[in-house]
Amino acid sequence: MLAADDVDRVLVVVAHPDDVDFAAAGTIAGWTASGIEVAYCVATYGDAGGFDETPREQMPVLREAEQRAAAKIVGVDDVTFLGYPDGAVTVTLDLRRDIARQIRRVRPHRVVLPSPERNWNAVPASHPDHLAVGEAAMCAVYPDARNAFAFPTLLANEGLEAWAVPEVWVLASPQPDRYVDVTDTFDLKIAALRTHVTQTAHAHDLADRLRRFLAANAMAGGLPEGRLAEAFRVVSIPT
Ligand SMILES: [Zn+2]
Repeated sequence: MLAADDVDRVLVVVAHPDDVDFAAAGTIAGWTASGIEVAYCVATYGDAGGFDETPREQMPVLREAEQRAAAKIVGVDDVTFLGYPDGAVTVTLDLRRDIARQIRRVRPHRVVLPSPERNWNAVPASHPDHLAVGEAAMCAVYPDARNAFAFPTLLANEGLEAWAVPEVWVLASPQPDRYVDVTDTFDLKIAALRTHVTQTAHAHDLADRLRRFLAANAMAGGLPEGRLAEAFRVVSIPT
């Protein structure tokens, strides 16, 4: 397990704009406030999300802008979109290489990724794109990014050296074991989610819903009454 001081850089890999904000924005706001650099890698532009009031062809452009603005609210400026089609992401070698490229560029001490395992207690969190990105990202963590002989063009053509990620934090895991107190960053999390206007404009009960969900997490994690928590499974990887 890494000590907090051992973590200078974190890379978050998710499927859609807003995924990171629903699952982890409170935690990330805490990390950036403590000086950790956080980068996002988003596999799609979320072009299959939202509502009919937004013209379809505008959706990817709007959602990219929304995610960049939401990232800024929690202290994140480095956001990369991979451009895979929303709703049709599968675990391919191309996706593994594209995520491995971001790992080698950012050189993170911690990667945050969606659970590749379906969580039967949280079916919407187990969207097929999330499962696919989770599996591809885990393959990119181990072994692709750390093996200099995997995807050799990354090194030969782009100069991206192998990088071993020592720790992974899994989102929406069926077996969470880490509960981060986000009570103090809850308002930032809601502000970040509200920035995804195409997705959350109709969600008038968003803050209440999130508060209930995060309070249940806090209770599961044994935090004091009245606290809010985001939940993760933390996995150490021998380096
Ligand atoms: Zn999603």
